[in-house]
Amino acid sequence: VVEQRVLLLHTGGTLGMDPARRFPDGLEPGEYLDDLVDAVPELGELAQIDSEIVFNLDSANVGPSEWLQLAQLLHGRREDYDAFVIVHGTDTMAFTAAALSLCLAGFGKPIVLTGSQLPLRAMRTDARSNLLNSVACAVSGRLREVALCFGHVLLRGNHACKVHSSHYDAFDTIGAPPLAWLGIDIEWNQDALLAEPGSYQPRFELEPRVQRLPIVPGMDPANAIGDLYGRGVRGLVLEAFGTGNVPSDARRWTRKNTGCASRAKRASRSSSSRSAGPARSIPACIGPGRSSSSLAFAPFCA
Ligand code: ASP
Repeated sequence: VVEQRVLLLHTGGTLGMDPARRFPDGLEPGEYLDDLVDAVPELGELAQIDSEIVFNLDSANVGPSEWLQLAQLLHGRREDYDAFVIVHGTDTMAFTAAALSLCLAGFGKPIVLTGSQLPLRAMRTDARSNLLNSVACAVSGRLREVALCFGHVLLRGNHACKVHSSHYDAFDTIGAPPLAWLGIDIEWNQDALLAEPGSYQPRFELEPRVQRLPIVPGMDPANAIGDLYGRGVRGLVLEAFGTGNVPSDARRWTRKNTGCASRAKRASRSSSSRSAGPARSIPACIGPGRSSSSLAFAPFCA
């Protein structure tokens, strides 16, 4: 008898699409999504599963307001289920995973995001194995954090990145090893798992007016970036080289125009913005490039 209770939340993407129809018409969830366990009966051997359609969006349209909607829903059901699986479009799944990990820090139960490269009903679909692997990882008793399960890996939710648009192994991890490898067995990377989730500190406020800026060799920050504050930007993520290296003039520009400004300058101007910096300063963080999760972090840094 399976005892673990899993809530499976559908948010859109390819997995639920009608394979005979093309995007965007095909994005309507088929009736099988009402009962995924009918479509993939093996799921019922892993857990007692309830499913719910939260929204049905191409994930290009999933952003901060949907992250908050999902976080609030998970927060409200935290006591009712042992684990949560979220079906999501692949394009921005890594951003949503990173955002949820921050909104729901210390949640203490598994939240596993997954999706697929082909719809569930398509020939040679990866949807079945991704769903089964996700639920298997979620009920394993080992995971207590937000993770992304896809292809042959389980990744930490805030270190994942989509790296292929057509390979079944579409995600890779940045700056942290996989939490598990999904082969014949689930091979757990015990040292990489979050051992103690810490105290639960949900937060449902974020600042979406954040700009991501890739630094490229030879760029003139004054021209390339300009008056961000005047354009309404209130947070900045500089995508740098290596582990956070930027050219000297970009560093000087950053010091002058962001929350890295001197204390004297901060104190001499009054600011009505949330930032503790001068009136026109923008909180900024500099990180290694290529990480989609770094942008999802940004609304929380601002
Ligand atoms: N366009 C889809 C989405 O991200 C792609 C996918 O699900 O793989 O919603």
